[in-house]
Amino acid sequence: MEVVVAKTAGFCFGVERAVNQVYCQIEQGVKPIYTLGPIIHNEEVVRDLEEKGVRVLASPEELDAVKEGTVIIRSHGVGKSVYDRIEKRGLCLVDATCPFVKKIHEIVVKQNEEGRRVIIIGDEAHPEVEGIKGWGDERTLVVKTEEQVDHLPLYPGEKLCIVSQTTFNYNKFKDLVEKFSKKGYDIITLNTICNATQERQVEAEHIASQVEAMIVIGGRNSSNTRKLYEICQKECKNTYYIQTLDDLDPESVNSVRSVGITAGASTPKKIIEEVHTNVRAIKRV
Ligand code: SF4
Repeated sequence: MEVVVAKTAGFCFGVERAVNQVYCQIEQGVKPIYTLGPIIHNEEVVRDLEEKGVRVLASPEELDAVKEGTVIIRSHGVGKSVYDRIEKRGLCLVDATCPFVKKIHEIVVKQNEEGRRVIIIGDEAHPEVEGIKGWGDERTLVVKTEEQVDHLPLYPGEKLCIVSQTTFNYNKFKDLVEKFSKKGYDIITLNTICNATQERQVEAEHIASQVEAMIVIGGRNSSNTRKLYEICQKECKNTYYIQTLDDLDPESVNSVRSVGITAGASTPKKIIEEVHTNVRAIKRV
């Protein structure tokens, strides 16, 4: 049986880098270690880290109760006030903010200095957007829908800089930018969408179109895994959504000649490899 594993399956560059940084601190014997929010949306990884002594702080306010130790900022990044808080408490800082997100923080600071109001296209409640906003000034706004654009407190000809949440949908971003453009502002647009998600989807679609069965691995609540599953299912009727190897029924793939495997952004390599090894070992009937 031919088994094809997507090169883009699993962690993106930024998440992998952040998770590695936590394990690196553990290996160096650093204690205590805190992460600001779970380092990744994967229960197994978070549990493993907890067993190794890593504690998760639910909010920056919880930093005020921490007396010593190292705080790791995850790939989503945080606003400036959180850095200030960590420094004020005299805690060590490991900054695992994804460099692509860090770049947006720098853009926001620079554009504000140059007098532009920053508009972030994204979901206001998403931690990455909260972090980006936290580098802006009091004029910074977050916009998600076209209706919102009509009700913003902006004046004609105002100087704006539009950036995007890294995981925002490109077509929606384009539509929103177009809407802003029609209103006569002086706009600089910087497309800060990261290609990791799109590349994963394009590769999954391609593999699914060429195999007889497709396996998509990821958490039950992972929206990007569900999206991958839907994309694959359009191309390949025999697409299976599993969380771990335990969910895979060998009989579902033992009569096909080729199987493709992909995984959502929070699926550790270990689980992907486990599924790969086991699928390869399945005897065809
Ligand atoms: Fe991953 Fe891209 Fe987000 Fe960085 S910006 S964490 S590479 S999805």
